[in-house]
Amino acid sequence: MEAVFAETSPATGETLEAIAATSLEAIPEVVARAREAQAKWAEMSLDKRIKAITKVKARILERAEEIAKLVHLETGKPDVEALLGEVLASADVVTYWGLALPDEMEPEEAEIDALSYPKKSGWIHREARGTIALIMPWNFPFALPLRTMIPALMTGNAVVFKPSELTPRTGRILAALFDGIVPDGLVGLVQGGGEAGARLCGADIDMVVFTGSPATGRKVAHTCADRLVPCALELGGKDAAIVLADADLDRAANGIVWGAMMNCGQNCGAIERVYVESKVAKALTDKIVAATKALRIGTDVGPLTSAAQRSIVEKHVEAAKAGGAEILTGGKTLDEKDAKLGYEPTVVKIDDEKAPIVADETFGPVVPITEVADVEDAIKRANASRYGLTASIWTKNTARGEKLARRLRAGVVTVNNHSFTGAIPSVPWSGVGETGWGITGSVHALDHLTRPRFILVDKNGAPRETWWYPYTPTLRKLALTFVALRGGAKGIVSKIGAVFRLLGLLPKRMKELKSGKPAG
Ligand code: NAD
Repeated sequence: MEAVFAETSPATGETLEAIAATSLEAIPEVVARAREAQAKWAEMSLDKRIKAITKVKARILERAEEIAKLVHLETGKPDVEALLGEVLASADVVTYWGLALPDEMEPEEAEIDALSYPKKSGWIHREARGTIALIMPWNFPFALPLRTMIPALMTGNAVVFKPSELTPRTGRILAALFDGIVPDGLVGLVQGGGEAGARLCGADIDMVVFTGSPATGRKVAHTCADRLVPCALELGGKDAAIVLADADLDRAANGIVWGAMMNCGQNCGAIERVYVESKVAKALTDKIVAATKALRIGTDVGPLTSAAQRSIVEKHVEAAKAGGAEILTGGKTLDEKDAKLGYEPTVVKIDDEKAPIVADETFGPVVPITEVADVEDAIKRANASRYGLTASIWTKNTARGEKLARRLRAGVVTVNNHSFTGAIPSVPWSGVGETGWGITGSVHALDHLTRPRFILVDKNGAPRETWWYPYTPTLRKLALTFVALRGGAKGIVSKIGAVFRLLGLLPKRMKELKSGKPAG
């Protein structure tokens, strides 16, 4: 039995219960059990599946405080953040999909041209993918898996879930939510680190939904490419907030500090760059510094979740200092005695797009502020990132903000707010560039979790279709007449001519199809 890491709580320093890693050899068996359970599960009616999965909501709400406490212990985030962003957001996910799926899963009648394809009707059904591997990070260990698990299971899939090795206990409590309400094995749990994740991607699964870093995402994509299995990747971010000269600076400063510091900055949609128009740069910066200094360590901002994460933050801040950036507040590791793995909430004044703190994902409690000449400069810099998850524009002129939003290279753009939309299940969460191509939230997520199956029924009793054998000069003329009718004929006279030709050719072709011989 191999224990997975993170046995010490980053929140309290206490030793947490050791959790056994799943042996690599056992992973294909977990997948096989899920696959077997899925076949029967997919045969159940959608209604029954929704009813079963909806029971999870009551379990989440009943155990709200226990879940929030565990998330706090494993990640370090304040338990109020866990209650709001993990527990409540997950309950809303169940409600949303329970209401949305009956319509969204309804088969859709296909449009079929009756002249070209007589007496045929067809329906497009959404079918489950099968067995989905779900490989997840540690920063939202409860909400992120559930935002995919709920719709995946309701639509008829099995899920084999691998939580991060830093949050195995939250992973275990999450998987147990489904005990007794879905067939045994339908929700598989694989505990372990990268090796377990790699083994799961290479197992007999039908789809991988991965959330994590671009480096791991690339590995997952390679494995999936080799196996020709689809994958959805939701990766990192380096999100920008653009503050225009007409912004409400108090709201902007408070919103930016929350957007940057929430979960100690360990949020894929965290504000990691601020571009402010020079006219208000000083005023905004002063307000951001004041709001940052007012944060209470432990109450508002927890520690970083791992020593590795803290060391990235330290390196980025040190490199910024060495490059001449000004540390306006913070900039230091907190004493272990006061806060485990803590780092001071930090504000940096910088103008260097190549500095790691501006170019790379920091994932820490740091706000780099850059003064820009105007909005064009801000948009150019914001769009130059290799990531593109969320972005925000802060302005009182919301119509202008909305227009500018469409020029930003990001999957989610908010005007006068930032990143909270990840908690709204009816809207898409997705990105561009190295943020990957995964989509969670909204019916758009169903394109990953289901595939379309088209079923056509033909009630044409003729012995042959127009386009079947034998190929004859009449068929060729008919094809050219269809070319003319579809737009190839120019002018009204040629179009009328084509209609007459069609009327002459169709009976001839019918005769051919009946006899199976070319018409003389
Ligand atoms: P990570 O890539 O280190 O790990 C993610 C998961 O992949 C873990 O479960 C890990 O065990 C597993 N893994 C590691 N190596 C693997 C391999 N070779 N094959 C398969 N699985 C493997 O990421 P992390 O540090 O856990 O999470 C932080 C990252 O996640 C950040 O970059 C953050 O921006 C990103 N993130 C993105 C979103 C989003 O919605 N776009 C949401 C949350 C986090």
